Amino acid sequence: MILKEIVRLIQGRLLYESEDLLEKDYSYAVASDLMSNVMLETVDDSILITSLVNAQVIRASEMMNIKGIIITCGKTVNDTMIELAKNRNIALVETQDTTFTVCGKLHSTGMREGPLSFEGGQVTSIRLEPDRCIGCIHCVRCCPTEAIRVKSWKAQINAERCIECGMCVKVCPRHAIRPEVDQLSVLENYDYKIAIPASAIFGQFKDVKSRNHLLTALKRIGFDDVYEEAIGAEMISYATRQQLKKEDRPQPLISSGCPSVLKLLQIRFPNLLDHVIQYRPPVEVVAAMARRQAEARFPDKKIGIFFIAPCTAKISFIKESDEVIESDIDEMVAISEVYRMVAANLKQLKDSEVEDLEKTGVMGLRWASPGGEGLALNTDKFIAVDGIEQVIDIFEKVEEEKLSGVDFIEAEACIGGCCGGSLTVENVYSAKTNMKVIIDEAKAKYGDRLLNVPEDEQELERNRELRYRPVLRLDEDLNVSLKKMEEIGRIVSTLPGVDCGVCGAPTCKAFAEDVVRGSITERACIILNRTRGR
Ligand code: SF4
Ligand code: SF4
Repeated sequence: MILKEIVRLIQGRLLYESEDLLEKDYSYAVASDLMSNVMLETVDDSILITSLVNAQVIRASEMMNIKGIIITCGKTVNDTMIELAKNRNIALVETQDTTFTVCGKLHSTGMREGPLSFEGGQVTSIRLEPDRCIGCIHCVRCCPTEAIRVKSWKAQINAERCIECGMCVKVCPRHAIRPEVDQLSVLENYDYKIAIPASAIFGQFKDVKSRNHLLTALKRIGFDDVYEEAIGAEMISYATRQQLKKEDRPQPLISSGCPSVLKLLQIRFPNLLDHVIQYRPPVEVVAAMARRQAEARFPDKKIGIFFIAPCTAKISFIKESDEVIESDIDEMVAISEVYRMVAANLKQLKDSEVEDLEKTGVMGLRWASPGGEGLALNTDKFIAVDGIEQVIDIFEKVEEEKLSGVDFIEAEACIGGCCGGSLTVENVYSAKTNMKVIIDEAKAKYGDRLLNVPEDEQELERNRELRYRPVLRLDEDLNVSLKKMEEIGRIVSTLPGVDCGVCGAPTCKAFAEDVVRGSITERACIILNRTRGR
């Protein structure tokens, strides 16, 4: 049902004018005054019905990709809330009807309650469009943390388990799974806009004359300045070199560069969390620096910091308050979103128009591909591993103390590192070749020097510890857990063991675990049913 009809039905009033928003179609609705519930049980593109009037309503809606809010009971909406909604392109409708009445009216038109459950309120940037999903289970099979199930022919993502590797985004043949990113239209919300491109952007374009050509082409999309993410990477490389010199450090140290890997450690390898270097993501370091400098120059302007991101994981890592309390990044835009415009600008750019925007050397740029971070550490004793299965394998070896003589592990969830991120465009191997051209150019200019070192290493440190997230645990009580494991073993022994996926789980073992957790019954296994029926 389109918003225009909803407004008419509930005799409501749109609180700011927008023809686009009035034409938006909604199939689902969620009603709640508790924003924590909205975060738990909302499907993309739902309309929110609430009598709560504060800024948190808009923020929770933005996080859950809600594009329309109905404020019930004739509550007065203040200008701040309207402005916030407008900036985020979220429709705000007010009505004298009560929440109950609005629910009744919408239900009578066939609109339904959002069916997905994002358990535990964990933030994930991965969104599913149920209407596109055909239940083919491609995504279920590829997920490394078994976070997806198909029920009633629709995929469901358990946000608690999702480490945002982006594998499901890549494999879905219906494009039903997509990352939540900001659109470039948000540029107009700011007076002074700064782009921070991930280094992987340099791998996306072939035959670029120079790094400055590419950075200028990016700036011309509508930014006022550009700071490379690699600046932060160089600073962290410098600080990690100092860490490696310490006698009492954990052995080996693990990179904090890939947020998917950090999430994996949090849910599956809690014993290794102490090994992770204590620094913030490079982009956060650069964003803080860029904001500080811009605010000093333009104290009266509204500064907007845009991260041009290569993958989904970097997006929600920054949005999650758990890891970074106050992010300096305002908007996250995918590399794929800016790609066409940068390519068009590159074609038109004259050499005389190219600005000197590059501020880093090879050490920071190399972070975009596997091995780059390790190479910046002045040690041969490092392992660079990419691809989530390989990463899991290496971490298991560390846990089992089967990996000796290694000082540092650089681990990246995507094959090909950030150049292979789910929001990039170019084939990962071609991207590597394109990167090499840019890296060779930097090497010829600056050698192997680090061009950026931190004034104070403590400024690079994370605000909070990485915490264990026991989402895979069967029960808080160890004895109960052991009993449940026994029960899983018993059920597995009765199953055919062919991992057919018809039940919607990736494997028979995962199905048995679901049965023990109570989210499905054994009857969902058609082969077991048939055998028992004989
Ligand atoms: S891959 Fe997953 S989300 Fe995509 S259509 Fe198949 S079941 Fe649905
Ligand atoms: S992003 Fe990765 S971890 Fe998350 S649901 Fe998709 S495949 Fe699973």
